[in-house]
Amino acid sequence: MQNIEIEKAIPWNPWHGCKKVSLGCKNCFVYKMDQRYGRDTTTITKGKTTYELKDKDCPPNSLVKLCFSSDFFIEEADEWRDGCWDFIRKRKDCLFVMTTKRPERISQCVPSDWKDGWEHVLNKQKNK
Ligand code: SF4
Repeated sequence: MQNIEIEKAIPWNPWHGCKKVSLGCKNCFVYKMDQRYGRDTTTITKGKTTYELKDKDCPPNSLVKLCFSSDFFIEEADEWRDGCWDFIRKRKDCLFVMTTKRPERISQCVPSDWKDGWEHVLNKQKNK
């Protein structure tokens, strides 16, 4: 992994909402949070910053926590994900971290130049 001096951790939620896929989703905090606001979590919606973050919101050397109010590899986001990859590809000065409960979808969702993965992207597979 490249040596990034992390200066700031920032969230990036390119879409919101998710569908439960396993027992590990039982106590999902996104559902709990949405319940408070009367929002239907199972409706997946694009966020204001779906395809990129503004420079002021993503300074160099940021740790970007990606998609914590959804699952980056959820099927409903298939048509949006490439735009995110374009931004991530450009920002090798930052470290992107995403979690998923859909690890079986990763190989079909990564870009064609992914090869063995990008050094500045970490994917954590949550326990099912
Ligand atoms: S995959 Fe994650 S975000 Fe989606 S329902 Fe399960 S715990 Fe919640």
